[in-house]
Amino acid sequence: MMRVYNTLTKTKEEFKPVQSGKVGIYLCGPTVYKPSHIGHMVGPVIFDTIKRYLTYSGYVVKLIINITDVDDKLITEANTRGIPMAAVADEMTADYWRNLEAMGVKESVDAFPKATEHIGNIINFTQKLIDKGFAYESDGDVYYDVGKFSEYGKLSHRTLESMLGEGGGTAERKHSPFDFALWKSAKPNEPSWDSQWGKGRPGWHIECSVMSCELLGETFDIHGGGLDLVFPHHENEVAQSEACHGKPMCTYWMHNGLMQASSEVGKVGGRKTHSAEEDNLESQEAGKISKSKGASAFRDMLKQFKPETIRFFLLSSHYRRPIDFSFERIEEVGKGLETFYRFAKRFDKLTGQSFYVLEAAKVRTDGDKVKAQTPLCESVAEYRTKFLDAMDDDFNTGGAIGVLFDLLRTLNKFIDDSKLETTADKKSIAPLIHGATVLRELGLTLGLFREPPQESDNTSSNELVGKLIQLLIEMRTNAKKNKDFATADIIRNKLNEIGVTLEDRPGETMWTIT
Ligand SMILES: [Zn+2]
Repeated sequence: MMRVYNTLTKTKEEFKPVQSGKVGIYLCGPTVYKPSHIGHMVGPVIFDTIKRYLTYSGYVVKLIINITDVDDKLITEANTRGIPMAAVADEMTADYWRNLEAMGVKESVDAFPKATEHIGNIINFTQKLIDKGFAYESDGDVYYDVGKFSEYGKLSHRTLESMLGEGGGTAERKHSPFDFALWKSAKPNEPSWDSQWGKGRPGWHIECSVMSCELLGETFDIHGGGLDLVFPHHENEVAQSEACHGKPMCTYWMHNGLMQASSEVGKVGGRKTHSAEEDNLESQEAGKISKSKGASAFRDMLKQFKPETIRFFLLSSHYRRPIDFSFERIEEVGKGLETFYRFAKRFDKLTGQSFYVLEAAKVRTDGDKVKAQTPLCESVAEYRTKFLDAMDDDFNTGGAIGVLFDLLRTLNKFIDDSKLETTADKKSIAPLIHGATVLRELGLTLGLFREPPQESDNTSSNELVGKLIQLLIEMRTNAKKNKDFATADIIRNKLNEIGVTLEDRPGETMWTIT
């Protein structure tokens, strides 16, 4: 049984889609006024993984990520640069898409609706709220009347009284300080659209209520976003959509933890364990990654790390937990991923076929159909079940990756124990191929092992590096033959220091650059 943690009920609930066999997911996307930083990749990678896993589990999944292309920040940026708002939006949307493409996410997003493409629908939705008595016009603005929606606060678990203490700013045009703008009248030189309330532009919250309904229906399955969006953005979405349609906006509200600069929350590079209290929004907000904390543009990060390494890093912890960000942490996690790459090379060499073309099952079959003919197949089946259990339990990618490491160790040990690399007896190859195929099948549900890791573009210098390392390996082998273990160790350790890992296999030494 698949279970999903729902922010609305604060419990894990059994996953049941609105329409049998189909799942609709809406994820709040970026406001496109600056280039993306790594914080912008967290939600897309997590919800892309959730889509992959649900697809593997037999559902037809639609994933929508919206683009906020009209907003105060965009207008300010456009004025600073002296170019139209739409030019800023186009440039930053292209940057966002290029990054999603590099991360293997763009292809799995079914639509990227933009606010400015839905102005007519936004005006109609707003008018409906006025007609139903949930919104009012005031001097060219339209506000949502929070006092009219009795369930306001149910998602963020707040009451209007408790919010009073938070000192929401009063505005003369509003009935209550908590009322929020659905439509904002145009100030001079601002981009604007005609409406029955005069020239203006939509507020932020209304676009998500409108576009999610347009693309997924009045009630859909999963609404996702960062924990910082629960209030007020998602609370306001609930108020708008449910007042307008008189039915739940979605079944499950899923919120991912925020990315924090590691120095803000603990020692750099250390794996920090969080207590339950530390996972609350206030502490996460304090260390949240944003431009102001010096997060570099994501496109620059891609020059330093393989996209798969970043993906592996983002999925290594549970999605509801905050993610401690530092380059050291990514490097550390990357070393773990390299052990899978080394296995893939070892596998290729042994079997003469590429790990990356193994025909992995694309759809889950419960209760491993493969009769466990050998002890290896038996433990592979056990790891498979453990992996699926972890993912079924609120998409615990961190736990699932832990199982992949266990499976990897088992496969490497099998090769060692059956001396596959030195003996001519190849009858053990079949169970190994089965195990590797399952490893790839499970990895693919997390968006991993889709293709061989990209090498750097600089092929000729790579070749030279390879030859130099091979030379050092030969010198080390000779040193060992002459019982000069001190020299052998120095070569190994010095290579390790500069990021070259050696691994001794029967009859040869393999190397990887981390
Ligand atoms: Zn939204």
